[in-house]
Amino acid sequence: MPILEINLRKIRHNAKILKNLLAQRNVSIIGITKLVLGNPTIAMMLVQGGIEYLGDSRIHNIIKMKKNNIRAQFVLIRIPSITEIPLVVKYANYSLNSELKTIRMLSNEAVKQKKIHSIILMVDMGDLREGINIFNIECFVEEILRLKNINLSGIGTNFKCFGGIIPTDENMNEFSKLVFRIKDKFELELEFVSGGNSANFNWFKSCKNIGEINNFRIGEAIFLGKETINYEPIPNLYTDAFRLITEIVELKQRSLIPKGIIVSNAFGESVQTYHKKINNGKKSDTIRTQALLNIGRQDIAVKGLNPKESINILGASSDYLVVDIRDNQFQIGQKLHFDLNYEALLRAMTSPYIHKKFIDI
Ligand SMILES: *Cc1c(COP(=O)(O)O)cnc(C)c1O
Repeated sequence: MPILEINLRKIRHNAKILKNLLAQRNVSIIGITKLVLGNPTIAMMLVQGGIEYLGDSRIHNIIKMKKNNIRAQFVLIRIPSITEIPLVVKYANYSLNSELKTIRMLSNEAVKQKKIHSIILMVDMGDLREGINIFNIECFVEEILRLKNINLSGIGTNFKCFGGIIPTDENMNEFSKLVFRIKDKFELELEFVSGGNSANFNWFKSCKNIGEINNFRIGEAIFLGKETINYEPIPNLYTDAFRLITEIVELKQRSLIPKGIIVSNAFGESVQTYHKKINNGKKSDTIRTQALLNIGRQDIAVKGLNPKESINILGASSDYLVVDIRDNQFQIGQKLHFDLNYEALLRAMTSPYIHKKFIDI
């Protein structure tokens, strides 16, 4: 079985550095655990790093963390489904919201469960994913403040998730001004003015006046140690807390050009001409050594793998990763290692066919 090796010390370190960096400017972090499926062992590292709020997009991940005694305040960061409202009120302390119908139902449910449910109202500043239109914010706030057992604990926005819009001084100032106006008009104290995610890191570092912002929701930067505009490493963070270890199951001399009539591969995609990748674009055939590794598209996003050994990834089917081993002298059973990007890691965490191995060194 392929192994995803997870270095707990590195994750704890990253969480602590980021938490302290933001705390210097009175900005809190909601540590986002969706990338690791709310894995309690990993969530514990964020808590040990000093993070007090954990957010996840799946209520069942939050339930899993709570049942495993992770001590944090839990934030559901996906707009709640109507069918999940009883679970949301029962298990999440906070949820991100943008629909009055849903918020009214959260209120009714909270009354029923004799609980107070806190919400963060999401505003769309141009990325076009979740959030209310800025022109409607007064109406929303007015109505939310009237609802029983609902606490308006914050206003939030999100960038670089759907529209690919990056946070800039312009849109962040616009958001801050909007929040200031609402706080002033309704005399609100907001626990969260949540300005975005890992994509806000560069803006945060370069910006002298962060306005009303007092929170970010951070996942990727903690786990992969990079900001998500240019994917540059963040100073003092580890970028290799996760490592994928695969095994060679077949080694054969093969031609670079498939023999016979080409239609498409197992996924109905047109077949790339691999010889171009290897022979500097020259269309000449070469015999080379091809390895099959024990991982495939069911487990991994192939484009998100970065090999540590000097090999070329040629492609993958459901169950095999096909690589050119170049000049290496590899054996059957030998281990090959890969770094993973966000999508590859998400898939690796989700695959039941990859063993998760925790190390703490
Ligand atoms: C996933 C998500 C985040 C965290 O994004 P990262 O890029 O992992 O930092 C923040 N907010 C919302 C609403 C999200 O869905």
